[in-house]
Amino acid sequence: MSGEMKPVSVPLCPLAMASNPEKELLCIFGTGDLGRSLGQRLLQTGYKVVYGSRRPHSCGPLPQGAQVMSHAEAAHLSSLVVICIHREHYDFLQTLAPQLKGKVLVDVSNNHKTGLYSEANAEYLQRLVPGASVVKAFNTISAWSLQNGPSDANRQVYLCGDSSEAKQAVAEMATRLGLSVLDKGCLSAAKELEDFPLQLFPAWRLPLCLAVCLTAFFFFYLLIQDVVYAYVEQDKDISFRIMVSLANKVFPIVSLIMLSLCYLPGVLASFIQLYRGTKYRRFPGWLDHWMLCRKQMGLVSLGFAFLHVLYTLLIPIRYYVRYKAGERVVSLIRGNKTTEFDTTAAWRTDSYYSIGILGFGLYVLLGITSLSPVSNALSWREFTFIQSKLGHLTLFLCTLHVYLYGWDRFLNLSTYKWWTPPGYMLCLVVPSVVLVLKLLLLLPCVDRSLTRIRQGWERSEPGGDGSGKPLIT
Ligand code: NAP
Repeated sequence: MSGEMKPVSVPLCPLAMASNPEKELLCIFGTGDLGRSLGQRLLQTGYKVVYGSRRPHSCGPLPQGAQVMSHAEAAHLSSLVVICIHREHYDFLQTLAPQLKGKVLVDVSNNHKTGLYSEANAEYLQRLVPGASVVKAFNTISAWSLQNGPSDANRQVYLCGDSSEAKQAVAEMATRLGLSVLDKGCLSAAKELEDFPLQLFPAWRLPLCLAVCLTAFFFFYLLIQDVVYAYVEQDKDISFRIMVSLANKVFPIVSLIMLSLCYLPGVLASFIQLYRGTKYRRFPGWLDHWMLCRKQMGLVSLGFAFLHVLYTLLIPIRYYVRYKAGERVVSLIRGNKTTEFDTTAAWRTDSYYSIGILGFGLYVLLGITSLSPVSNALSWREFTFIQSKLGHLTLFLCTLHVYLYGWDRFLNLSTYKWWTPPGYMLCLVVPSVVLVLKLLLLLPCVDRSLTRIRQGWERSEPGGDGSGKPLIT
């Protein structure tokens, strides 16, 4: 960042414009996709636009009303120049440094991958034209959205620069284009802005990878346990179960594990704070990253829970289920037999279904409240109440749902095919651990210490003053 403030003449004050019927003239270097779209929007908004081009006489059709001339001539006419050119071609701007002195240069450029250059494009531009004030802006807005009118997702303009007057001028232009502006600070923030458009669902990557790995693992685990086992040990071909039965085992397993993984980092973070006796030391990077993608992890797990519900609703119309039910009735009639009503089984299945439905209802509530339009309407207290208190209750109900499904099968040796536990038992490990750890944190003595730490109290280090008073206020 250069500490030096450059002389800038900034003419874009709205009041000045209102009193001056003369249209403001802006300059755009480059007649490519972004240059044309931006020019068109600026003309529609009431600006005059002049293009600076290498080929002013053969640059193709431009927005109606725009002028085109050489770079040097165009730069001379406006105090603000938007550089709609790829960074690779910036060299020629050095030769225009005298003409660009004192101007605001808007760098809109992006790179096609991260880490391509050690220095941000905007900082490079500033180095080429030290007499100008470079502002990084508009790089997250696409030519397409400028042409079609920006939608909500495409309305945000991030800008940064070392001159506050230059940033003010660019911000006014963006606001007049109907965009909302967020100042990200000095020009040293440009690299971060240039990396924005290159990110592809960064917060979804970990949850999606996890979901794919868990699904693949449990699919093959259950395939061996159910289908391969029946084939090898009982000489039965039940491969048709892959499509519905197996899927309906894998989806809830993945869903429950991922739900518990949403709450595990919070619990781990609490134990780390208790161990360190302070909240002022940063968590390890992996824990930070994990905590930042809890919402996405929760939404992916909710998706799997939905699949489980849909597959469960399908059960009564399955050919296999209808065949087995009919066959059983016929065999009872043939043998002139009846079956006793089993109250325990009725209790078990009803509780299992009922707890599952309650858990799913809360699960959906968590999903809805994590969406920005809903969460923005909630106070911080309401949001944490739903996501933390109701979230742990949801995890408890869903875990109980699986325990009720297992019932007394946990003690039955025949469920352990080839001495391996069934999938639903495996999937109980993480949620049970999370719930036990959470219960420990709720113990009054632990809860009291944690609350004090979160209010700023720090445990004295050996050699400290030993007062146990907050070291940081
Ligand atoms: P483009 O369609 O390729 O246009 C680039 C323009 O740069 C050309 O039309 C040309 O204009 C000029 N140019 C090309 N080679 C040059 C050279 N050697 N020397 C001087 N000028 C040269 O690119 P674009 O899509 O408009 O993108 C322009 C900049 O905006 C890029 O930095 C890009 O990263 C950024 N951006 C683009 C978008 C988008 O949606 N397209 C979105 C955000 C940011 P003349 O022939 O008139 O000289």
